[in-house]
Amino acid sequence: LLNNIRIVLLHTTHPGNIGATARAMKNMGLERLYLVKPKHFPNSEAEARASGATDILENAVVSDTLGDAIADCQLIIGTSARERSLPLPLLTPRDCSSVISREADSAQIAILFGEERTGLTNEQIDYCHYQVMIPANDAYQSLNLAAAVQIIAYELRIAAISPPANQNASPASATASEMEAFYSHLQQVLIEKKFIDPEQPKRLMPKLRRLFTRARPEPEEVNILRGVISALIK
Ligand code: SAH
Repeated sequence: LLNNIRIVLLHTTHPGNIGATARAMKNMGLERLYLVKPKHFPNSEAEARASGATDILENAVVSDTLGDAIADCQLIIGTSARERSLPLPLLTPRDCSSVISREADSAQIAILFGEERTGLTNEQIDYCHYQVMIPANDAYQSLNLAAAVQIIAYELRIAAISPPANQNASPASATASEMEAFYSHLQQVLIEKKFIDPEQPKRLMPKLRRLFTRARPEPEEVNILRGVISALIK
């Protein structure tokens, strides 16, 4: 269950949090850390906080964009303490683990964590199929980044060590990079045909993305959609 799951930290400011995340992951049996534009990395404070988990830091994959970090992922989950302006299906960490355990045999899965002060941006949330919210104190909902990773990772571990339920394998859905190629094709045509005004896009693309994200299309279905767009233009 745990091998196909990557933890993605976005634009992390404090290297200590990267180290503490590595430790939280290794304690729970997660190994794949992805860092998108970390402010300071590699870094001695990160190593100190990682303690016995410096191997997770050494093997961390650093990238410039979220798109690169999750290009091959089929299930993308964003963590946020706030309800978003375009709400996604909300999960508790426990429900998140059961959604993941239904797919983790065959799919690549990413769990995204935002920058310490600002959290996940709308553009980052636009990639996600689900939002996980740790049900914290209403009066103070925002956990430390690595503490949030620890809770999600703990629930994944509980799911991983539980006997597997007899579940039907779900069909493979398209990857983030296949979806991005589809969205840019769609957007280009919608602008060309003046359905979207690039000066005043009115969040049309995020809303369309949300529709297709809910549908979880398979790769062949994405190809059909792209074929439909091309046929209509002709
Ligand atoms: N002020 C930011 C909080 C950032 S905390 C905001 O309002 O979003 C840093 C990261 O830790 C968040 O981006 C999220 O990934 C995770 N996190 C913190 N508290 C959380 C909670 N209650 N539920 C889910 N994720 C949380």
